[in-house]
Amino acid sequence: MLEPGSMPSPRTAAAVYWAMMRRIVVGAAAIDAIGLVLFAAVGAPFLALLNVGSVCIYAFVYGLLRQRRNRLAVALIWLEVLVHAGIGSLLIGWDSGFHLFLLMFIPAIVVGTPRRWAATMVVVLLLFYLGLQWACAALGALSPLPPWTLQLVQSVNVAMIFALFYTMAAYYRATVIKAERRLFAAATTDALTGLVNRSQFHALAQAELARQRRIGSPTALVLADIDHFKRINDTHGHEAGDQVLAQVASALRQGLREGDVLARWGGEEFLILLPSTALERAAALAERLRLAVAALPLAVGGQPLSVTVSLGVAPVDAEGELQAATASADLALYASKRDGRNRVTTAAA
Ligand code: GH3
Ligand code: MG
Ligand code: MG
Repeated sequence: MLEPGSMPSPRTAAAVYWAMMRRIVVGAAAIDAIGLVLFAAVGAPFLALLNVGSVCIYAFVYGLLRQRRNRLAVALIWLEVLVHAGIGSLLIGWDSGFHLFLLMFIPAIVVGTPRRWAATMVVVLLLFYLGLQWACAALGALSPLPPWTLQLVQSVNVAMIFALFYTMAAYYRATVIKAERRLFAAATTDALTGLVNRSQFHALAQAELARQRRIGSPTALVLADIDHFKRINDTHGHEAGDQVLAQVASALRQGLREGDVLARWGGEEFLILLPSTALERAAALAERLRLAVAALPLAVGGQPLSVTVSLGVAPVDAEGELQAATASADLALYASKRDGRNRVTTAAA
């Protein structure tokens, strides 16, 4: 039985953001661990020690994020980056490239801060950045490194920034693509039966009809409607009705070829476009579908339930007028209902 509550709920922007934040924290800890080794190797023990502190902070922050103590985690990240960028730049000079890590905050602020605060926070960040730049220019490096070592530190920092921006952009790209797919599926698919909905049927059918016109092939439409469906709802409940709808949809789908387009047209109506199919073959197929539905082994509360469909078949004319063909299939379906249901009626070509 399908339950509305069992539908997967889409991940919110906030969940995506915090998942990305956890990755960034792992990345930042890895960067600081690499830096630690580098500084120890080039004889800058104070910077190496600073990195030990940073790795510990990021490990702690990761734990906080997992416990969803997000505010404290973010505050510590800010503190770590600001202090690290500040001390690194003041000690070995602006050319060290430590200030570049401040730029990472811009996308983080824009994505994770309420809109009314984002611009203010970016301006505060800018002021810190410029202040640090001025301080570095005024004071010079307090604990300078030999030129080639400084060059190495700068190159490593620049490479880290490239890697971090790449990771962030790739993650957001993947997130946007996933969200687009989910939205497209939600907008084009009927959640209960998994079939395409009415508007997507139109889009698919128009494309298929244009192709059929080019190759000069006949196309047919079949409209199917469950018989006395209201009775099923009234007798067995709406949930049983839903289950019947899903089972009938599945039986119809199984009876079709790959290129056929099957849609949930309305409440308990299904519309099928059959490309490259002459009217007689379409009528024969409709008859097979009728038998397949009638043979469905349905049961409610252990009691067998017999369900039938009435069908109307119509050709799509040379101009490929879908609306006229649907109206014609609807008339044929009406004739099937009028003549006693559980039957197929074919409209005149
Ligand atoms: P007929 O044989 O003439 O087609 O009779 P019918 O009872 O099938 O047709 P009618 O149009 O009187 O009733 C259709 C019913 O389908 C009414 C509506 O509540 C029900 N229905 C429409 N959509 C859904 C749905 O998604 N789930 C369920 N359970 N019922 C639905
Ligand atoms: Mg009906
Ligand atoms: Mg109906």
